[in-house]
Amino acid sequence: MILQKMFFESSKFLSGWRHWRCLAVWTASLGAIAVALVGGGPRTLAGQPATRRVVVATTTVVADLVRQVGGERITVDSLMGPGIDPHSYKATPRDTDRLSRADLVVASGLHLEGKLSDILSRLGKRVPMVAVADALPRESLLSVAENLYDPHVWFDAKLWSQCPAVVAQALAAIDPAGREQYEANANAYRRSLELLDGRLRDRIATIPQQQRVLVTAHDAFRYFGRAYGIEVVGVQGTSTESEAGLNDINRLVELLVVKKIPAVFVETSVSDRNMTALREGASARGHSVTLGGRLYSDSLGGPDSDAATLEQALVANVETIVAGLSGGR
Ligand code: ZN
Repeated sequence: MILQKMFFESSKFLSGWRHWRCLAVWTASLGAIAVALVGGGPRTLAGQPATRRVVVATTTVVADLVRQVGGERITVDSLMGPGIDPHSYKATPRDTDRLSRADLVVASGLHLEGKLSDILSRLGKRVPMVAVADALPRESLLSVAENLYDPHVWFDAKLWSQCPAVVAQALAAIDPAGREQYEANANAYRRSLELLDGRLRDRIATIPQQQRVLVTAHDAFRYFGRAYGIEVVGVQGTSTESEAGLNDINRLVELLVVKKIPAVFVETSVSDRNMTALREGASARGHSVTLGGRLYSDSLGGPDSDAATLEQALVANVETIVAGLSGGR
Protein backbone atom coordinates (compact mmCIF):
# COMPACT_ATOMS: atom_id res chain seq x y z
CA MET A 1 0.00 0.00 0.00
CA ILE A 2 2.69 2.45 1.06
CA LEU A 3 4.84 1.46 -1.88
CA GLN A 4 1.93 1.84 -4.28
CA LYS A 5 1.20 5.29 -2.93
CA MET A 6 4.84 6.29 -3.20
CA PHE A 7 5.07 4.97 -6.73
CA PHE A 8 1.95 6.89 -7.66
CA GLU A 9 3.37 10.06 -6.13
CA SER A 10 6.74 9.63 -7.76
CA SER A 11 5.15 9.19 -11.17
CA LYS A 12 3.26 12.45 -10.65
CA PHE A 13 6.51 14.40 -10.46
CA LEU A 14 7.64 14.19 -14.02
CA SER A 15 10.49 16.66 -14.06
CA GLY A 16 13.79 17.42 -12.38
CA TRP A 17 14.79 17.19 -8.82
CA ARG A 18 11.39 16.68 -7.20
CA HIS A 19 11.03 13.57 -9.26
CA TRP A 20 14.49 12.33 -8.36
CA ARG A 21 14.11 13.21 -4.73
CA CYS A 22 10.86 11.35 -4.51
CA LEU A 23 12.42 8.43 -6.35
CA ALA A 24 15.38 8.53 -3.96
CA VAL A 25 13.05 8.47 -0.96
CA TRP A 26 11.12 5.63 -2.55
CA THR A 27 14.29 3.65 -3.29
CA ALA A 28 15.65 4.30 0.19
CA SER A 29 12.37 3.14 1.70
CA LEU A 30 12.55 -0.03 -0.36
CA GLY A 31 16.08 -0.60 0.98
CA ALA A 32 14.96 0.01 4.55
CA ILE A 33 12.02 -2.38 4.17
CA ALA A 34 14.27 -5.04 2.62
CA VAL A 35 16.71 -4.75 5.50
CA ALA A 36 13.88 -4.74 8.06
CA LEU A 37 12.60 -8.02 6.57
CA VAL A 38 15.95 -9.73 7.17
CA GLY A 39 16.19 -8.31 10.68
CA GLY A 40 18.51 -5.31 10.21
CA GLY A 41 18.09 -1.73 11.50
CA PRO A 42 17.19 1.36 9.50
CA ARG A 43 20.30 1.12 7.32
CA THR A 44 21.04 -0.20 3.88
CA LEU A 45 23.19 -3.28 3.33
CA ALA A 46 26.14 -1.05 2.36
CA GLY A 47 26.19 0.48 5.86
CA GLN A 48 25.09 3.90 4.64
CA PRO A 49 22.19 5.83 6.19
CA ALA A 50 18.82 4.73 4.81
CA THR A 51 17.90 8.29 3.84
CA ARG A 52 20.69 10.30 2.27
CA ARG A 53 20.79 13.97 3.17
CA VAL A 54 19.94 16.26 0.26
CA VAL A 55 22.35 19.16 -0.19
CA VAL A 56 21.48 21.93 -2.65
CA ALA A 57 24.57 23.68 -4.03
CA THR A 58 24.19 26.95 -5.93
CA THR A 59 26.81 26.50 -8.70
CA THR A 60 28.42 23.52 -10.44
CA VAL A 61 31.75 24.41 -8.79
CA VAL A 62 30.23 24.26 -5.32
CA ALA A 63 28.28 21.09 -6.21
CA ASP A 64 31.59 19.41 -7.09
CA LEU A 65 33.12 20.49 -3.77
CA VAL A 66 30.15 19.08 -1.84
CA ARG A 67 30.32 15.80 -3.80
CA GLN A 68 34.03 15.42 -3.03
CA VAL A 69 33.42 15.84 0.70
CA GLY A 70 30.00 14.20 1.01
CA GLY A 71 30.76 11.14 -1.10
CA GLU A 72 28.17 8.37 -0.94
CA ARG A 73 26.44 9.67 2.17
CA ILE A 74 24.68 12.59 0.48
CA THR A 75 22.72 13.55 -2.62
CA VAL A 76 23.88 16.78 -4.26
CA ASP A 77 21.48 18.91 -6.25
CA SER A 78 23.09 21.75 -8.24
CA LEU A 79 20.76 24.72 -8.56
CA MET A 80 22.55 26.02 -11.68
CA GLY A 81 23.53 23.67 -14.48
CA PRO A 82 26.67 23.78 -16.66
CA GLY A 83 27.21 27.01 -18.61
CA ILE A 84 25.00 29.12 -16.35
CA ASP A 85 26.27 32.55 -15.26
CA PRO A 86 25.87 32.81 -11.44
CA HIS A 87 26.14 36.64 -11.37
CA SER A 88 22.87 37.06 -13.25
CA TYR A 89 21.03 33.88 -12.20
CA LYS A 90 17.59 34.42 -10.66
CA ALA A 91 15.72 31.75 -8.69
CA THR A 92 12.65 30.21 -10.31
CA PRO A 93 9.66 29.10 -8.19
CA ARG A 94 10.94 25.53 -8.57
CA ASP A 95 14.35 26.61 -7.22
CA THR A 96 12.68 28.13 -4.16
CA ASP A 97 11.02 24.79 -3.59
CA ARG A 98 14.31 22.90 -3.99
CA LEU A 99 16.09 25.27 -1.61
CA SER A 100 13.41 25.17 1.06
CA ARG A 101 13.31 21.34 1.08
CA ALA A 102 17.10 20.95 1.34
CA ASP A 103 18.75 19.49 4.44
CA LEU A 104 21.62 21.92 3.77
CA VAL A 105 22.27 24.69 1.24
CA VAL A 106 25.87 25.39 0.21
CA ALA A 107 26.58 28.62 -1.64
CA SER A 108 29.83 29.97 -3.05
CA GLY A 109 29.46 33.39 -1.39
CA LEU A 110 31.24 36.77 -1.55
CA HIS A 111 28.25 38.01 -3.59
CA LEU A 112 28.91 35.65 -6.51
CA GLU A 113 25.23 34.73 -6.50
CA GLY A 114 24.18 38.40 -6.55
CA LYS A 115 20.58 37.85 -7.63
CA LEU A 116 20.02 35.05 -5.12
CA SER A 117 21.09 37.01 -2.06
CA ASP A 118 17.53 37.92 -0.99
CA ILE A 119 16.16 34.42 -1.22
CA LEU A 120 19.26 32.90 0.40
CA SER A 121 19.17 35.26 3.36
CA ARG A 122 15.44 34.66 3.78
CA LEU A 123 15.73 30.86 3.60
CA GLY A 124 18.89 30.90 5.72
CA LYS A 125 16.69 31.60 8.72
CA ARG A 126 15.10 28.15 8.51
CA VAL A 127 17.37 25.96 6.34
CA PRO A 128 20.98 25.22 7.40
CA MET A 129 23.20 27.20 5.05
CA VAL A 130 26.89 27.89 4.51
CA ALA A 131 28.74 30.09 1.99
CA VAL A 132 32.17 28.50 1.60
CA ALA A 133 34.17 31.49 0.32
CA ASP A 134 32.75 33.71 3.08
CA ALA A 135 34.67 31.51 5.53
CA LEU A 136 38.07 32.27 3.95
CA PRO A 137 40.40 34.65 5.81
CA ARG A 138 39.86 38.19 4.49
CA GLU A 139 43.60 38.79 4.07
CA SER A 140 43.74 35.96 1.51
CA LEU A 141 41.06 37.61 -0.67
CA LEU A 142 41.39 40.14 -3.50
CA SER A 143 39.51 43.34 -2.83
CA VAL A 144 37.15 44.86 -5.41
CA ALA A 145 35.82 47.79 -3.38
CA GLU A 146 35.48 48.59 0.30
CA ASN A 147 34.16 45.45 2.04
CA LEU A 148 33.65 43.79 -1.33
CA TYR A 149 35.84 40.92 -2.47
CA ASP A 150 36.43 39.11 -5.74
CA PRO A 151 34.33 35.91 -5.45
CA HIS A 152 36.25 33.74 -7.99
CA VAL A 153 38.38 31.98 -5.37
CA TRP A 154 38.14 28.45 -6.87
CA PHE A 155 40.75 29.38 -9.52
CA ASP A 156 43.45 29.29 -6.85
CA ALA A 157 43.58 25.57 -6.01
CA LYS A 158 45.54 26.22 -2.81
CA LEU A 159 43.05 28.83 -1.58
CA TRP A 160 40.09 26.61 -2.51
CA SER A 161 41.75 23.74 -0.60
CA GLN A 162 40.62 25.48 2.61
CA CYS A 163 36.96 25.07 1.61
CA PRO A 164 36.56 21.25 1.97
CA ALA A 165 36.93 21.58 5.76
CA VAL A 166 34.12 24.16 5.81
CA VAL A 167 31.84 21.75 3.95
CA ALA A 168 32.84 18.81 6.20
CA GLN A 169 31.82 20.81 9.26
CA ALA A 170 28.47 21.82 7.74
CA LEU A 171 27.72 18.23 6.70
CA ALA A 172 28.66 16.86 10.12
CA ALA A 173 26.20 19.31 11.69
CA ILE A 174 23.28 17.77 9.76
CA ASP A 175 24.63 14.19 9.84
CA PRO A 176 26.81 13.69 12.94
CA ALA A 177 27.25 9.96 12.23
CA GLY A 178 29.15 10.86 9.09
CA ARG A 179 31.63 13.25 10.71
CA GLU A 180 34.68 10.99 10.42
CA GLN A 181 33.91 10.17 6.80
CA TYR A 182 33.41 13.81 5.86
CA GLU A 183 36.63 14.86 7.57
CA ALA A 184 38.60 12.07 5.88
CA ASN A 185 37.15 13.00 2.47
CA ALA A 186 37.88 16.70 3.06
CA ASN A 187 41.50 15.96 3.99
CA ALA A 188 42.02 13.77 0.93
CA TYR A 189 40.52 16.42 -1.35
CA ARG A 190 42.59 19.18 0.25
CA ARG A 191 45.78 17.20 -0.41
CA SER A 192 44.71 16.55 -3.99
CA LEU A 193 44.12 20.29 -4.59
CA GLU A 194 47.50 21.13 -3.06
CA LEU A 195 49.24 18.71 -5.42
CA LEU A 196 47.34 20.09 -8.40
CA ASP A 197 48.34 23.62 -7.39
CA GLY A 198 52.03 22.88 -8.01
CA ARG A 199 51.33 21.15 -11.31
CA LEU A 200 49.33 24.12 -12.64
CA ARG A 201 52.11 26.56 -11.71
CA ASP A 202 54.72 24.42 -13.50
CA ARG A 203 52.62 24.33 -16.67
CA ILE A 204 52.03 28.12 -16.78
CA ALA A 205 55.79 28.63 -16.31
CA THR A 206 56.38 26.97 -19.70
CA ILE A 207 54.75 29.98 -21.50
CA PRO A 208 57.38 32.53 -22.65
CA GLN A 209 57.51 35.25 -19.99
CA GLN A 210 56.36 38.18 -22.18
CA GLN A 211 53.34 36.23 -23.44
CA ARG A 212 52.03 35.37 -19.97
CA VAL A 213 49.03 37.67 -20.36
CA LEU A 214 45.56 36.21 -20.15
CA VAL A 215 42.86 38.33 -21.81
CA THR A 216 39.37 36.99 -21.07
CA ALA A 217 35.74 38.07 -21.21
CA HIS A 218 35.23 39.02 -17.55
CA ASP A 219 37.57 39.36 -14.61
CA ALA A 220 37.14 35.84 -13.26
CA PHE A 221 40.81 34.93 -13.29
CA ARG A 222 42.50 37.37 -10.89
CA TYR A 223 43.09 34.68 -8.24
CA PHE A 224 44.34 32.39 -10.99
CA GLY A 225 46.78 35.06 -12.16
CA ARG A 226 48.02 35.74 -8.63
CA ALA A 227 48.50 32.05 -7.87
CA TYR A 228 50.12 30.92 -11.11
CA GLY A 229 52.13 33.91 -12.27
CA ILE A 230 50.23 35.25 -15.26
CA GLU A 231 48.94 38.78 -15.84
CA VAL A 232 45.17 38.73 -16.16
CA VAL A 233 43.03 41.28 -17.98
CA GLY A 234 39.25 40.99 -18.04
CA VAL A 235 37.21 43.02 -20.50
CA GLN A 236 34.15 43.26 -18.33
CA GLY A 237 35.09 43.67 -14.65
CA THR A 238 34.61 41.23 -11.80
CA SER A 239 30.90 40.71 -12.39
CA THR A 240 29.25 40.07 -15.76
CA GLU A 241 26.62 42.58 -14.66
CA SER A 242 28.74 45.53 -15.85
CA GLU A 243 29.24 46.34 -19.53
CA ALA A 244 32.60 46.95 -21.21
CA GLY A 245 32.93 50.46 -22.68
CA LEU A 246 34.65 51.49 -25.90
CA ASN A 247 37.58 52.87 -23.88
CA ASP A 248 38.15 49.47 -22.28
CA ILE A 249 38.20 47.82 -25.71
CA ASN A 250 40.67 50.38 -27.13
CA ARG A 251 42.93 50.05 -24.10
CA LEU A 252 43.01 46.26 -24.52
CA VAL A 253 43.64 46.44 -28.27
CA GLU A 254 46.67 48.60 -27.45
CA LEU A 255 47.90 46.00 -24.96
CA LEU A 256 47.50 43.12 -27.44
CA VAL A 257 49.37 45.01 -30.18
CA VAL A 258 52.21 46.33 -28.02
CA LYS A 259 52.85 43.08 -26.16
CA LYS A 260 52.21 40.95 -29.28
CA ILE A 261 49.80 38.72 -27.34
CA PRO A 262 48.92 35.87 -29.73
CA ALA A 263 45.51 34.86 -28.32
CA VAL A 264 42.48 35.92 -26.30
CA PHE A 265 40.05 33.56 -24.59
CA VAL A 266 36.30 33.22 -24.35
CA GLU A 267 34.41 31.73 -21.42
CA THR A 268 31.79 29.02 -21.24
CA SER A 269 29.33 31.06 -19.15
CA VAL A 270 29.84 34.55 -20.67
CA SER A 271 29.01 36.05 -24.09
CA ASP A 272 32.04 36.34 -26.43
CA ARG A 273 30.85 39.58 -28.10
CA ASN A 274 33.64 41.69 -26.60
CA MET A 275 36.36 39.26 -27.63
CA THR A 276 35.32 39.60 -31.27
CA ALA A 277 35.60 43.41 -30.96
CA LEU A 278 39.12 43.02 -29.53
CA ARG A 279 40.31 40.75 -32.32
CA GLU A 280 38.88 43.05 -34.99
CA GLY A 281 40.54 46.06 -33.34
CA ALA A 282 43.95 44.37 -33.23
CA SER A 283 43.57 43.13 -36.80
CA ALA A 284 42.89 46.72 -38.00
CA ARG A 285 46.27 47.61 -36.45
CA GLY A 286 48.03 44.79 -38.30
CA HIS A 287 48.30 42.35 -35.36
CA SER A 288 46.53 39.05 -35.70
CA VAL A 289 45.01 37.61 -32.52
CA THR A 290 43.58 34.10 -32.50
CA LEU A 291 40.81 32.80 -30.32
CA GLY A 292 42.84 30.76 -27.85
CA GLY A 293 39.86 28.63 -26.89
CA ARG A 294 37.07 28.49 -24.39
CA LEU A 295 37.85 28.60 -20.67
CA TYR A 296 35.66 27.27 -17.90
CA SER A 297 35.04 30.24 -15.64
CA ASP A 298 32.03 30.40 -13.34
CA SER A 299 30.69 27.01 -14.36
CA LEU A 300 32.11 23.53 -14.92
CA GLY A 301 31.29 21.44 -18.00
CA GLY A 302 28.62 18.74 -18.13
CA PRO A 303 29.13 15.26 -16.63
CA ASP A 304 30.54 13.91 -19.92
CA SER A 305 32.82 16.87 -20.66
CA ASP A 306 36.55 17.22 -19.93
CA ALA A 307 35.62 19.47 -17.01
CA ALA A 308 33.06 17.55 -14.97
CA THR A 309 35.03 18.39 -11.79
CA LEU A 310 36.88 21.54 -10.74
CA GLU A 311 40.23 19.75 -10.89
CA GLN A 312 39.51 18.70 -14.47
CA ALA A 313 38.37 22.24 -15.36
CA LEU A 314 41.57 23.75 -13.95
CA VAL A 315 43.70 21.31 -15.97
CA ALA A 316 41.62 21.89 -19.12
CA ASN A 317 41.94 25.68 -18.71
CA VAL A 318 45.68 25.58 -18.14
CA GLU A 319 46.25 23.38 -21.18
CA THR A 320 44.07 25.72 -23.30
CA ILE A 321 46.03 28.76 -22.03
CA VAL A 322 49.43 27.15 -22.55
CA ALA A 323 48.53 26.08 -26.10
CA GLY A 324 47.07 29.50 -26.97
CA LEU A 325 49.84 31.68 -25.56
CA SER A 326 52.87 29.58 -26.46
CA GLY A 327 52.41 29.97 -30.23
CA GLY A 328 52.34 33.08 -32.42
CA ARG A 329 54.93 35.91 -32.39
ZN1 ZN B 1 32.31 35.60 -12.61
